[in-house]
Amino acid sequence: MSKFLSFIFVFIFLFNASALAQIDINRLSVDDVNNVEILLNKFAPLIKERREKNNLASLALDELYAPLTDSQRIFLKNFENLDANALSVKIPYLGIAGSNEKFVIIRGQKIKDKGKLQTLPPQFLPKDVNQSYTQMMDAMQKDLGKHLYVESGYRSSAYQLYLFVGSLKNHNYSIRETAKFVALPGHSEHGCPRQQAIDFVNEDGIDGQNNPKFFEVLPEYAWLTKNAQNFNFALSYPKDSNDGIAFEPWHWHYNRPH
Ligand SMILES: [Zn+2]
Repeated sequence: MSKFLSFIFVFIFLFNASALAQIDINRLSVDDVNNVEILLNKFAPLIKERREKNNLASLALDELYAPLTDSQRIFLKNFENLDANALSVKIPYLGIAGSNEKFVIIRGQKIKDKGKLQTLPPQFLPKDVNQSYTQMMDAMQKDLGKHLYVESGYRSSAYQLYLFVGSLKNHNYSIRETAKFVALPGHSEHGCPRQQAIDFVNEDGIDGQNNPKFFEVLPEYAWLTKNAQNFNFALSYPKDSNDGIAFEPWHWHYNRPH
């Protein structure tokens, strides 16, 4: 083999080895922390634009990868393909949604926040899920004179991936720690239209994020436990289940009839 050829082979080997080097899931290396910051800077204009257009939740994977160089794409793939078992993530892989799903945009939902009315950012739901949710709320309104709002509906896998990478900083750049708080892309019912999840918030702003203990004692929650099944909704993570997933009384999913 000529000297030149062997040089090329060594170069290709080294390039691949560095780009595909295993990232440390317990604590990112200084280089990888730097790489994460570079990715977030590259994403920033796109995220800003989608946020202004109110359609960040439906971000597509192609769009997220578009502004990146080849080696940055390989680096981002590490996060898209994280091993759920290695991270003890209990929620099974649900898949990455196709782009042919039709979403309804829910705008102008108003809830109280410390006594003041506040409008929630627009939310997305598959058409059939929104229809069933609306019927369920009409029934709840009749029975209780109360209504639950969609605090979070569909979030694309790309948005979930962005959220994951963007949250690393808050958890000392530990992938293992971040995975306890932010779902892995493909492992969230919020990104899975065939069993679409909704995080509910009531009109007084009681939700899972800020008031998890208060949600389970709401009459709205008691009503759901009795009636949601009639509208094909089910509680995803019940109390005292032995699957290791924490109780989330605000998180319900739709079972699409076959
Ligand atoms: Zn949820």
